[in-house]
Amino acid sequence: MIRTTGLTKSYGSVRAVDGVDLDVRAGDIYGFVGANGSGKTTTVRMLLGLVLATSGQIQVLGEEMPRRRRSVLPRVGALIENPAAYPNLSGRRNLTLLDAAGPGGSRRTRKTRVGEALEQVGLAGVGRRPVKQYSLGMRQRLGLAAALMRTPELLILDEPTNGLDPQGILEIRELLLGLHSQGTTVFLSSHLLAEVEQLCDRVGVLDRGRLVLQDQLSSMQRSTGRVSVRTADPAHAVSVLSGVDGATVLERVGQQIVVEHQDPAELNRLLVEGGVRVSELSEQRMSLEQSVLAVTGASSDRVDAPGALRDSATRTEVTA
Ligand code: ATP
Repeated sequence: MIRTTGLTKSYGSVRAVDGVDLDVRAGDIYGFVGANGSGKTTTVRMLLGLVLATSGQIQVLGEEMPRRRRSVLPRVGALIENPAAYPNLSGRRNLTLLDAAGPGGSRRTRKTRVGEALEQVGLAGVGRRPVKQYSLGMRQRLGLAAALMRTPELLILDEPTNGLDPQGILEIRELLLGLHSQGTTVFLSSHLLAEVEQLCDRVGVLDRGRLVLQDQLSSMQRSTGRVSVRTADPAHAVSVLSGVDGATVLERVGQQIVVEHQDPAELNRLLVEGGVRVSELSEQRMSLEQSVLAVTGASSDRVDAPGALRDSATRTEVTA
């Protein structure tokens, strides 16, 4: 769907994008994450032919960009920072004008198409208000409506929830999931790791212009080798595990213990056979935040990553 090879953009001595090899596959909801200034917007603009690359190749929907933009762009819905609109016209009028350059059809078909797009993004009731009176969130929704009007095969969105309140973010997430289930491949940039973790199935991490990680989200959320166990009898659990090879109790807090063990099912069997009443057992996995911090190192404080690593709790010696 999107493939770049050695994609690079320099502004004078600044390499905004540096040798990026993107691989976005059909059916992905791909999250393109990175700190402010890491090069996300520049990359998105190059994908759409709005900025010329200094070097490297771009293929979108199997065609070379920007050379084939006339045949590619009608098949792509795009939302980039600060969506453009005529401020004195209503959202509906703006979409109607945009649609006039689109796929055509009768006046009635066009009216329906505009109405449906406004409804999809929650702007159906906004009436004749001019866009200059819209909030940032409403402008963002209008930009999304414009991106949706062509029922695109591929949606490319730059920070789509920028300026939206929590309810708006939730609505946009549901909208994107709905479109994805109807066959649209989604590529979105974001600096909000929690948003990407909830929505995306494949992630690329940009750090100072370089793509430092690209993988399935599920692979990034790999096991930490630690298992949390909740039991009414933690002392008994610690004693059962004390002589077991490959099981180390790392923490005990209230009714919860954390055990280093590679196989949660086997750990459960050991505890149950030892007479421990286990009420909850879960494998601790790396969060996306942890994976990103691991590869972005020193610049990681520029990614929205509040708080310390959840998995870095100091080990507490536990005795039976
Ligand atoms: P944000 O999340 O803040 O939008 P970003 O990841 O989208 O950031 P870009 O806007 O692509 O990052 O910027 C990447 C780098 O390129 C930054 O250092 C920026 O200052 C620089 N840059 C972007 N556009 C230009 C330009 N037109 N001229 C000079 N430098 C630019």
